[in-house]
Amino acid sequence: MSKTINTVTGPITPDMLGQTAMHEHFFFEYPGCAGDLSSGKHVTKEQIIDAGVAAAKLMLEQGYSTVVDVTPNDTGNNPEWLKEISERSGIQIISCTGFYIQEICGSGYWGFRSRIVDAVSEIEELMTIELTEGWRGTGIKAGVIKVATGSEIRDYENMFLIAGARAQRKTGAVIITHTENGKFAVEQGKFLLEHGALPEKTVIGHMCGNLDPDLHTKVMEMGFSVNLDHVGAYIFNQPSDEERIVLIKELINRGFTDKIVLSQDAIAQYVGRPFEWPEEEKHDWRNYRFGWICEGFVPMMKAAGITDEQINMFMVENPKRIFS
Ligand SMILES: [Zn+2]
Repeated sequence: MSKTINTVTGPITPDMLGQTAMHEHFFFEYPGCAGDLSSGKHVTKEQIIDAGVAAAKLMLEQGYSTVVDVTPNDTGNNPEWLKEISERSGIQIISCTGFYIQEICGSGYWGFRSRIVDAVSEIEELMTIELTEGWRGTGIKAGVIKVATGSEIRDYENMFLIAGARAQRKTGAVIITHTENGKFAVEQGKFLLEHGALPEKTVIGHMCGNLDPDLHTKVMEMGFSVNLDHVGAYIFNQPSDEERIVLIKELINRGFTDKIVLSQDAIAQYVGRPFEWPEEEKHDWRNYRFGWICEGFVPMMKAAGITDEQINMFMVENPKRIFS
C-alpha cells in the first residue's frame, strides 16, 4: 500500500505532514443553497477563497503545515478552490471524498439510485476514482474518505460506510468519520470493521462531544483513533473546553495518548448569503473558529499539566502515524 498522501497540490510523504488539523472546512455549503442563487446575494468565489487564505495563513503562523478539509461532496466540496487556497497561502491541504448525514443532506440522489441499482458499488467506484484519478477530471486527488452517521442508524448512511470501507481497502486512504457527538461511535466502528475498514487508518469523529471515557476506551480498544475535533465549540449542547481537558487527561491515564488527534471543525466561509450570528449566540460561537486550538486550548492543556510531548503527539505524531 502506498505511503504517499494526496494533497490538493500533489503527493507528500507522512513525514512532510507536520502539525496537522484533522477536521476543518475552508468553506461549507448547505444543500439547498444552489436554489437561492437567483437572489444574487451569495458571497462570491473570490470572497470564499480570500476567507480560506486568511484562515490558512493563521494556521501557518500557529505552526500548522497541514489541514485536512473534510467538506463532503454533498456540502460543497471543491478541491479546485482548496488548491487555490493552498497555493496562495502555502499550507498543505488534504481534501476528502465522501458524504454527510441524511438529516442534512437528504436521501435524494443516492436514495433514489439505491432503489434501482447497486448504489453502494457506485459510491465505492466514485470514491476510488476521486482518490486515485481525481475530482471531476481535474487530476486533484482526494486524500481521505469521509463517512457519517446521524441520530439514528440508517440504511442511507450505511451505504456510504460500506463503500468507504471498501474504498479504503483498495486504496489505503484514511477514513475520517462524523458522529453526532459520539452517538453510535461503537456501532459505527463495528460496522466499518465488518466491511473491511482498517482501524489504524480510521479516525472516529466528533468524539469530544461525549465526555464518557468508557465510550472512548471502547472505540480505541477496537484500534481506532478518536478525533477531539470540536475544540472551542460551546454550541449544540457541547461540553466546555475545561471538561474536554478532564477527558483528555483521563484518556492519557488509561494509556491512549497515541490514539488522540485534535481539530476545531471550523468553517472559514459559509457559501450562500452572508449573515451574522444572532446576538444571543455570538458568545457561544466566539472560540469555534480557526486559530483557537493554539490560541486558547493548548495553553489550557499545559496549565492542566498535559506535557509538550503529549500535545506534540496529538498534533504531529499521531496524524503522521495514521497517514503512514
Ligand atoms: Zn465538520
